[in-house]
Parts: sequence; structure tokens; C-alpha cells
Amino acid sequence: MEEFDVHNEATRTDSDVERFLRPQSFDDFAGQRSVLENLQVFVAAAKGREESLDHILLHGPPGLGKTTLAYIIANELGVNIRTTSGPVLDKPGDLAGLLTNLEPNDVLFIDEIHRLSPVVEEYLYSAMEDYKIDLVIDSGPNARTVQIGLNPFTLIGATTRSGLLTAPLRARFGINSRLSYYDTETMSGIVERSSGILEVPIQENAAIEIAGRSRGTPRIANALLRRVRDFAQVKGNGSIDLAITRMALKALNVDENGLDEMDNRILAALIDKFKGGPVGLNTISTAVSEDAGTIEEVYEPFLIMEGFLARTPRGRQATEKAYKHLGRTPGASEGSLF
Ligand code: ADP
Repeated sequence: MEEFDVHNEATRTDSDVERFLRPQSFDDFAGQRSVLENLQVFVAAAKGREESLDHILLHGPPGLGKTTLAYIIANELGVNIRTTSGPVLDKPGDLAGLLTNLEPNDVLFIDEIHRLSPVVEEYLYSAMEDYKIDLVIDSGPNARTVQIGLNPFTLIGATTRSGLLTAPLRARFGINSRLSYYDTETMSGIVERSSGILEVPIQENAAIEIAGRSRGTPRIANALLRRVRDFAQVKGNGSIDLAITRMALKALNVDENGLDEMDNRILAALIDKFKGGPVGLNTISTAVSEDAGTIEEVYEPFLIMEGFLARTPRGRQATEKAYKHLGRTPGASEGSLF
């Protein structure tokens, strides 16, 4: 049986279904209450004034709804949205093309905005601040620069790594919202909503089971739901109950606590190589060959929320729950890196 990999591009972008499952309005969007309440006020105020909404930075781990929220905001504002991403914008000209095509108050969504090249980023500054850009006209000896005005627009930037954003870029966002992992109750509501849309009956305890194994991440929950649905269709009677869910998740090798491979590697390194800690972030980063910032902004928040990892003044420490999860006994590890 093929292993289920939530970070696998192919699983992740079952894109037609995913778009289908995407909430369209603030009312459809579950969880993230405080972020949502603020955004609703800002959207209503901008609409009331018939002005463009201030630029918004959305940050948080992958799959928590940043792109979805950008679409919802545009939808609620009643404007168009154009989307691109940091690594795709090679040169200022690429950005100019997008910016000059925006209608008044439109939304421009830039995913992975921390990966913009420095020249493109700098080019964005005057667009964000004064709605003006410089265009180079002609080439060779006739080349000259003209400044042109843009329609007022809202830039929505999304990033998983807000720590990598430069201070000048960050300062140009009037609204800064952080999405956090969803609790199991909210997640189970999301699973039930998605099964409703997919027209597959699901029992409440099965929805809770999928929710609890989805790493607090709606994208993972939806992906798991689709796979469980396949099992229910082929091995069951088409509806999802707890038994078929457990069977499917076992066959897919989905971790009981929803941890992914990197989560488990971090915990195993802590326990097996450093006697459970405390140990510094950079040491963990070297041990698991993952960037320290990514561990801090993407992996650690979930491990801490779920009680597998503790942050102490002396470093990161594995908790009893982590030992139990990996089947290790506290005090039994002898291995050392050196
Ligand atoms: P991100 O841009 O943060 O990586 P997405 O916006 O692409 O995440 O969300 C991934 C999927 O998860 C979406 O297709 C959507 O179906 C689902 N999703 C995300 N947030 C929510 C939510 N709050 N309620 C319901 N579904 C959600």
C-alpha cells in the first residue's frame, strides 16, 4: 500500500476538489474567530467608504486557509482577485503587468511573499504606498523611465515564514493576521461540511477521528477525507463510519496523533540524540536537516499546542507524551550525536 504523504504535491493539489471545498464567504469559514472578526470590520469599513482595503499580510503554516481567506475577502468586497506567488515573479516587468491590469479596489494576492526577489520587492514598495510604478519605455539609447499611476488596490500577501520578511515590506502592510492551527472540534466541523459538499454520509465519531489525525490543518483533513471516502466506496457501503475510517487511516499509515514525518523526526532526534533535551533550536535543526526558522514557525507551534514539545529557557524539551507517542522510555536513551 502506498504511503500517504500530506506534503506530496499530487495529493495536496487534487485541485478541482479542493477549489470545490473552499469556503466562499466569511460565514463558511470555520475557526480563526478573532482574525475573522477583525477582517469583517475592515472589509465593511472599506466597502462603506468605497475605498480600497488596506494591504493585508496573512501568515501561518501551510494549509490553514490563507489563500481561501484572500478569495473570501475579494468576494466580500465584490472585487476581482488576481493571484501570483513570490518565486514566479522573476523581474519587475512581471509585476508591472499584473499591477497595471488591476481595476479600482481589486485584490492582488501574492503567495509565498517571503520569496520575492529583492528587486521585485523594492518595485512593490511604491505600488503599495503611492499606487505608482516606474515603467521603462523603449530600449537602447531611447530607453527612458516614466512613472504611471495605478488604480488603488489591496495587496494580500501570504507567508509561512513571516520571520523572513524584510522590515520595509512588513511595515507596508496595514493589517497583519496570523492563522493558527485548528482545534479538533472546529476541524471536525470542517470535515462534516466537506463531506456534505462531496455528498458522502459520515458519522460524527468518524469525522472526529479524521479531524484528530489531520495536524490541525484543514487541507490535510480534506485530503484524508477524500481517501477515506475511496475506502468507504470500495470496501464499504459508501458511507463513512468509524470502522472504515480506522481501517483506511491504518492502510494509509496516518499517524494516530496526526503528526507528519518531520514532526516525528524532530521528536525522535530530541529523545534519541539529546536525551529528551533541553536542547537549542539550531542543534535540532542540524540533527534533522531542516531550516531552524521552518522548525520554529511551521513544526514547533503544532508540537507545542499538542503537548509533545515544551519550550524552556534552556531550550526545547520532549514531553512525556512525546516519549509515549514514540514508544520510548524516559531515561532510557543513550545515544549521542558526538
Ligand atoms: P493556505 O493558503 O494557508 O496554504 P488554503 O487556503 O489553500 O491554505 O486552504 C487549504 C484548503 O483547506 C482549502 O481548499 C479549503 O478547502 C480548506 N480550508 C482552509 N481553511 C478552512 C476553514 N477555515 N474552513 C473550511 N475549510 C478550510
